[in-house]
Amino acid sequence: MRFTVTSRGDDVSNTLQQKIKRYLLDFGLKLDEQEPDIVITVGGDGTLLHAFHRYTSRLEDTAFVGIHTGHLGFYADWVPDEVEKLVIHVAKTPYQIVEYPLLEVVVRHTDESESKRLLALNECTVKSQEGSLVSNVEIKGDVFEVFRGDGLCISTPSGSTAYNKALGGAILHPSLASIQISEMASINNRVYRTIGSPLVLPQHHTCLIKPLNQVELQVTIDHFTLAYKRVKSIQCRVAEEKIRFARFRPFPFWKRVKESFIGDS
Ligand code: NAD
Repeated sequence: MRFTVTSRGDDVSNTLQQKIKRYLLDFGLKLDEQEPDIVITVGGDGTLLHAFHRYTSRLEDTAFVGIHTGHLGFYADWVPDEVEKLVIHVAKTPYQIVEYPLLEVVVRHTDESESKRLLALNECTVKSQEGSLVSNVEIKGDVFEVFRGDGLCISTPSGSTAYNKALGGAILHPSLASIQISEMASINNRVYRTIGSPLVLPQHHTCLIKPLNQVELQVTIDHFTLAYKRVKSIQCRVAEEKIRFARFRPFPFWKRVKESFIGDS
């Protein structure tokens, strides 16, 4: 089996990264940064997000597992003390794969010549670089509302505990192949009206964000930010691709939610 280990880059994570590499090489596994079967990330959720984007072209063949060297992560749910156990699991036992849905984002330009397809593990956010975002929101081909406000966040189920949660969105179990649209400070008064509640769309229901003013947009995909001029539409839907996590022990989603946000009560 081919593996790679990525690190957040701090001393603790780098030391652990080297230790895991040594252990796995001793077990006879092959280090392969280009085409790994398994990617072990050491750091936090951000480290796993970076690794996901590095290997988006081989999602069908690569599984991910995350170790957190800071606080408990949603994707990075192994602790450094468990590294020996994890290494033996990786080297010796066939692991179970758990798949989580992803968000597909297609940004189309006004001149129709260019479009860009992106995948998000957590979410895509759309904001105006200057002033409010004013945009039609279409769902399944029909105009649903005209949004005016700071922006919109479209999240995956596993991203629902990240930015989406801070916006008052619901937490969705990752077994639900869906996306969630949540608002950022929408303007609501007698003139302007938006739904005001987060919306959950099932697979095959497409959301199209069509800006009504020609402003420069700031689009984030997980941890990275892109600036776009002359955007015709931003299309969001559940992606065909999924992320595959290597599971070596049960750690149910709701338990992770409780441990992250409620703690031991
Ligand atoms: P980062 O690594 O510092 O992440 C920020 C925090 O978000 C960390 O505490 C991380 O553990 C947590 N996080 C990431 N994914 C999560 C998930 N799926 N569920 C629960 N918590 C999660 O910063 P980064 O590398 O730039 O991470 C980008 C992510 O930060 C974005 O995808 C976005 O979800 C999140 N974010 C959150 C807010 C907010 O909550 N107000 C604002 C901006 C960005």
